[in-house]
Amino acid sequence: MRISGFGFQRGDMNHVCMVIAMQLRYGFRLYPNAGQRAALARAFGCARVVFNDALRVREDARAVGLPFVTAGELSKRLTASKKTPVRGMDDRGVSVILQQSLRDLDIAYRNFFDGLKGKRPKMGPPRFKSRKDTRQAIRFTANAGWKITPAGKLRLPKVGDVPVKWSRMLPSIPSTVTVIKDSAGRYFASFVVETGCEEVLPPVTPEVGIDLGLGHFAVLSDGRKIDSPRFLRRAEKQLKKAQRSLSRKEKGSANRDKARLRVARAHATVADARREFHHQLSTKLIRENQAIAVEDLAVKGLARTRLAKSVHDAGWSQFVTMLEYKASRYGRTFVRIGRFEPTSQVCSACGIKDGPKPLHVRVWMCQLCGTVLDRDINAAVNVAKAAGLAVSARGAQVRPVSVPAQRVEAGTHPKSRPTTARQAGIALL
Ligand SMILES: [Zn+2]
Repeated sequence: MRISGFGFQRGDMNHVCMVIAMQLRYGFRLYPNAGQRAALARAFGCARVVFNDALRVREDARAVGLPFVTAGELSKRLTASKKTPVRGMDDRGVSVILQQSLRDLDIAYRNFFDGLKGKRPKMGPPRFKSRKDTRQAIRFTANAGWKITPAGKLRLPKVGDVPVKWSRMLPSIPSTVTVIKDSAGRYFASFVVETGCEEVLPPVTPEVGIDLGLGHFAVLSDGRKIDSPRFLRRAEKQLKKAQRSLSRKEKGSANRDKARLRVARAHATVADARREFHHQLSTKLIRENQAIAVEDLAVKGLARTRLAKSVHDAGWSQFVTMLEYKASRYGRTFVRIGRFEPTSQVCSACGIKDGPKPLHVRVWMCQLCGTVLDRDINAAVNVAKAAGLAVSARGAQVRPVSVPAQRVEAGTHPKSRPTTARQAGIALL
């Protein structure tokens, strides 16, 4: 059943649903005209003023030892103060934004308190918003009166009908839209939608383990190694160039401002290209495999190590999040295994644990079974096995002919020299 010609599509809801409905975020580019941009700027400003006023009321109360001001009390006080014409918005515009800003502030407080209680990662208390913040956002709930017009535009109260680039289908009608202006000056509409089970894919046989390679973006237990695509590498190169150019500009100069905007744009392009790559790869892997296992790298814990940069740059956690929600959405199995699994210390063929190997050792021979193992593929197979997936260790093997003698030598543990006939054979190559 098509609900609308623009972006909405709902499948047949009658078949048996095995997947729990989940919330997904969909973002689309908006192209407001000059008048609409000005109206949005006023709305961003109004939301900011309300948010800051509410935050100040609470901070003032805290400073003099009064109890936490409830949302209901805040709402009453701020509504009263907004009866007088405030900073360029009329009553109706204000009241919608006011309620939403208060809700946003409450969420920020809740996250802060939950962090203090250890319920989630620690984060700072809510901060005052500034006109100079790089990201401006405003949320419209259902009762704000926003809608998608029959012509496929986004109708926002006090703003008008804004053209949208519908790049994908929305699985259901969203109740809330967040309008965002990013640091590169681009506008987006972000919808949160409930998805059902309409998209469950027919089952397939392969199951796969994925390891975050050091030289590659990802390595699969079936032996494939995946690098970042050229469009992403090119965007990253341009970002570096823009950053170098910015660092050469004199502080406070007009050229520096221009260069800063170029860097912000290049950042946005890199983020887009990376997201696109993660979408493509995660969709491909979900389609091809019935079950997928990854190692939980707990990216935050890695931040102190020298791996940090490569992990963050590769955007591993964004990619893993996509795999997880797509698995759930398309009826696949997703497993995250704990960090305690020593994926590079165990031979994926015979299971012997023969200790850590220095990072430069990319290929080695198992001392017990004689299998020649590729570090990354071996790790990916171990990830799959730890998750209980049905993969063979064959993917981890390196065919003897493809291994230069030196590499094997370098990868052999100094204490125990190879003695099996098979190893002797490789050493002769
Ligand atoms: Zn072995």
